[in-house]
Amino acid sequence: MGPGRTVDQVWPAAPRSGARTRAEWALLNREIENCRACPLGSLRTQVVIHRGSLRPRVLFVGEAPGASEDQVGIPFVGPAGKRLDQLIGRLGLLESEFAIVNVIKCHPPGNEFSEGAADACRPFLARQVEFLQPIMVVTLGTAALAAFRPDLVPILGSAGRRFRWRGLTLFPLVHPASTARSGAFRRRWEADGAALSRLLSRLGAGGHAGTGAPSRATV
Ligand code: SF4
Repeated sequence: MGPGRTVDQVWPAAPRSGARTRAEWALLNREIENCRACPLGSLRTQVVIHRGSLRPRVLFVGEAPGASEDQVGIPFVGPAGKRLDQLIGRLGLLESEFAIVNVIKCHPPGNEFSEGAADACRPFLARQVEFLQPIMVVTLGTAALAAFRPDLVPILGSAGRRFRWRGLTLFPLVHPASTARSGAFRRRWEADGAALSRLLSRLGAGGHAGTGAPSRATV
């Protein structure tokens, strides 16, 4: 989020509801694939757009693709993705119940999150959220949380708690990559994941068998 920008300036005035078509989703994907709106567009191997369902109940939102994701074009397929898949398995979400996207669609060199790229890319994220219409957004890491509710940063004060955002439930988690760097973050990931599991149970989502291998889209 750029300095001084509010949530209301970033997102449309009202969440969308109603019919969505595959043609609309395909058009959005083509726009992203052809985008060169920020410098990352000339550095990527391929764009990384979406993984999972087109009718998800839970939308996980990460920060930016890593090197592994840049090679295969699917979000969260590297080590952090394995950690996220383990959590999704524990939550019992079916493939049809969740989706994964990132704030930024192109891999930033050195995994350096760029506010400029995030500003340029945010309209795509907004359209993804509006198309997918989840009941819950689970943000992964500080930059992902800031894309929705910058007022909730720093993340350690907000992770593992339930918030409202434009009629949806917003549930921040620390980034799964952080669990490899710090035992404290690892414990936080586990505890907050358990809190998310309890919340999903109360909302009537999750509680099924574990997930399969990552794939681009399930309807
Ligand atoms: S990061 Fe987003 S805004 Fe930048 S080139 Fe890629 S798709 Fe376009």
